[in-house]
Amino acid sequence: MSLEATRALDERYLMRTYKRAPVDFVRGEGALLWDADGREYLDFLTGISVSSVGHCNPRVVAAVSEQVGRLMHVSNLFYTEGMARLAQRLSESSLGGRVFFSNSGTEAVECAIKIARKHAHARGVAEPEIVSFEGDFHGRSYGALAATPGLARSPALGPMLPGFRSVPFNDAEALRAAVGPSTAAVMLEPIQGEAGVYPTSEAALLAARKACDEVGALLVLDEIQTGLGRTGSLWAYEQTPVRPDVITSAKALGGGLPIGACITGPLAADVLEPGDHGSTFAGAPVATAAALAVLDVVAEPALLRGVREKGTALRAGLEALDGVRGVRGRGLMLGVALEEGVDGPALGADLLGRGLVVNVPRPDTIRLLPPLVVEPAQIERAVGLFAESLVR
Ligand SMILES: *Cc1c(COP(=O)(O)O)cnc(C)c1O
Repeated sequence: MSLEATRALDERYLMRTYKRAPVDFVRGEGALLWDADGREYLDFLTGISVSSVGHCNPRVVAAVSEQVGRLMHVSNLFYTEGMARLAQRLSESSLGGRVFFSNSGTEAVECAIKIARKHAHARGVAEPEIVSFEGDFHGRSYGALAATPGLARSPALGPMLPGFRSVPFNDAEALRAAVGPSTAAVMLEPIQGEAGVYPTSEAALLAARKACDEVGALLVLDEIQTGLGRTGSLWAYEQTPVRPDVITSAKALGGGLPIGACITGPLAADVLEPGDHGSTFAGAPVATAAALAVLDVVAEPALLRGVREKGTALRAGLEALDGVRGVRGRGLMLGVALEEGVDGPALGADLLGRGLVVNVPRPDTIRLLPPLVVEPAQIERAVGLFAESLVR
């Protein structure tokens, strides 16, 4: 089918929740994508950090293919080995507690909200509150949305869930002041992704940890975008001075299949009990087989070092370009701040026309989330396309 025919169907039958770029992709391999006309693209977005181990990574494809022909689903009413092994690997690689699986990032956040509220009630808090930073993104269900201050304020979608508040981004003093006896959790992104790649400061994270400890609240770090090697360590919090009580994961976890996880440390591991939470699809065999393969790829000793080195090279290449004011972020999660007068959306569209897929989270920023397995030559090619596009 031609792009025009697909577009006509899409525009007639899909709800109009997304503005799509004018391209329909039909195939992917590593850092490359091809559209319906056979045109090749370099993908520096990876479906918003989902295809982090590369499109159709052979290890993920093999694991999924084997599993999909053997058993796809039995529900959470029975034991399945893949789910148990994946929980072990996620726990042992991070906080050491228990894991709840979900089908998306938003649902992993919902689980964290339930844990925080129930943990607070056990401390005798009547009306628990969750504190986040302005600019944080945690998802679009009513719970996660309430913790997403930038989106939560549309009256047309109201009423919103009560029990959430926000303070200015990276304002450690305001955060300390907002945390009190009713606080159930402080929930933050280690690096704000959707807002345009803004790292949360060490001072803010330390203030959050200290304030939570003082009142008995939980520190929840949303690692849905930052996790699984994206920033050069398996989890972004490893490069910060704090250790959270709960982390959420999703996006890259399934290598392209939908799966999320809420992972706890000892303090929060036993909060949820039978009846408190559940999901029909979550942790099913195909998704967990994919995630186990993803963890194998990310566990390769050279991979994380490669992410740091390639991130440094990409950053240096971009910072040297006219039109680039600076680059924010860590590892291969980068926000390219454009100089005044450079039109981000126009630049993003021009780059797509030249065969480079990027994202424009705000008019003055290009967000780059290339696959962790991107080759140095592909980084050079991307920087070259940026250079051409900026002088056009
Ligand atoms: C993408 C994202 C979510 C939401 O995940 P979905 O899978 O879209 O539900 C939540 N938090 C962060 C930090 C994200 O980047």
